[in-house]
Amino acid sequence: MKYPRIHTSLPGPRAAAMIALDHSFVSPSYTRLYPLVADSARGLWVSDPDGNVFLDFTAGIAVCSTGHCHPRVVQAIKEQADRLLHMSGTDFYYTPQILMAQKLASLKPVEGDAKVYFGNSGAEAVEAAFKLARRHTRRELNIAFFGAFHGRTMGALSLTASKTIQKKNYNPMVPGITHVPYPNCYRCPWGLSHPACGLACVNWLEEMLFRTTVPPEEVAAIFVEPIQGEGGYVVPPAEFHVELSKLARKYGILLVADEVQSGMGRTGNMFAMELFGVTPDIVAVAKGIASGLPLGAMIAPAQIMDWEAGSHASTFGGNPVACAAALATIQLLQESLMANARTRGAQLQQGLIELQKEIECIGDVRGRGLMIGVELVKDRATRERAGDRRNAVIQQAFRRGLLLLGCGENTIRFCPALTISEEEANVGLEIFAEALRAVEA
Ligand code: PMP
Repeated sequence: MKYPRIHTSLPGPRAAAMIALDHSFVSPSYTRLYPLVADSARGLWVSDPDGNVFLDFTAGIAVCSTGHCHPRVVQAIKEQADRLLHMSGTDFYYTPQILMAQKLASLKPVEGDAKVYFGNSGAEAVEAAFKLARRHTRRELNIAFFGAFHGRTMGALSLTASKTIQKKNYNPMVPGITHVPYPNCYRCPWGLSHPACGLACVNWLEEMLFRTTVPPEEVAAIFVEPIQGEGGYVVPPAEFHVELSKLARKYGILLVADEVQSGMGRTGNMFAMELFGVTPDIVAVAKGIASGLPLGAMIAPAQIMDWEAGSHASTFGGNPVACAAALATIQLLQESLMANARTRGAQLQQGLIELQKEIECIGDVRGRGLMIGVELVKDRATRERAGDRRNAVIQQAFRRGLLLLGCGENTIRFCPALTISEEEANVGLEIFAEALRAVEA
């Protein structure tokens, strides 16, 4: 077992040279919080060009779920790369895309016989769902949630409402989208607490929104993340999705589950909606689906996936190498990794709840499987937001060799590879505790 040594001067000279080049040539719009230059990686361990080693609790933003460079994924990629790199599913057939579609359909994310549309990213999967819902229902309005992140293409961005900076200077958005409060029980928009609230968040949609502003018979789809990702790893109360899905059904509205971050095993289930006992009408997946190769998929029942030839497509979508990686990924998830996500997720959550007893600024620990959020606060009683403290903790963790990412305003997300061992989970918890103590001091 490696234990990352304390890194005193980061970035090292080789990393610093790369960062200078990046600043000259790469789009400056990224939000990097610390100077990690990833050079090579295996499992949960990432090395930089100066030989520093880091324990990765980000999995490349919840993507490398089988661990970095899993040998079976790499083997599948090599074999496919030797055979066929590209042909474009828009105009030709090729085996890995067909087999991957069959595989996804067999996982039963939607009712009945599913069909699959492939893109290259989460945004493309959501964008496809947005267009499909519009053409299938012939309705023009949509509902999405505050705190939601659905991607940065114009349709997906219009559905997004997690940070103003993402929309600033890009208005006007696609018209017809109404954002409504997400059920964040730690910061309930109605100041209520569950279950006494009687699920005010769902009732409000029917009793207020549909009665006063948005005619439900004009709504094509409700876009919802089963567990909100970029918005802060927010887990809704158990019955929320069931009630939301009943409401959608009542008015002929399609329920679109954006499982881009929560899906493909991350929560210990193939799809996070399984946790809530809900089968949505349309599902979008990406991120962890192909262990790091670009692939997004939109899955819907055959009767909803009713667009005619030429209506929507992507040259690179469903690339053969990405599909080969995805098939190997799903096999690994089913063999053991979803089970491991449940066990190690429970271990991490338990460790974080223990830590909360000692460390005052841990306001909330929440999540499912290996999608865990730790919300930091200035004061646990008032839940006043932590301000800069969250980023300071992430930076202190980096100095100590642990890679973390934020989400929401105050939350640190734990989304390591699903291959994480008991020991790696303990090392991560230990470094996280040290980082928190350093900032508290
Ligand atoms: N939906 C969700 C829930 C996401 O978390 C993300 C990415 N963070 C996206 C969509 C967009 O995915 P991509 O960056 O691959 O376009």
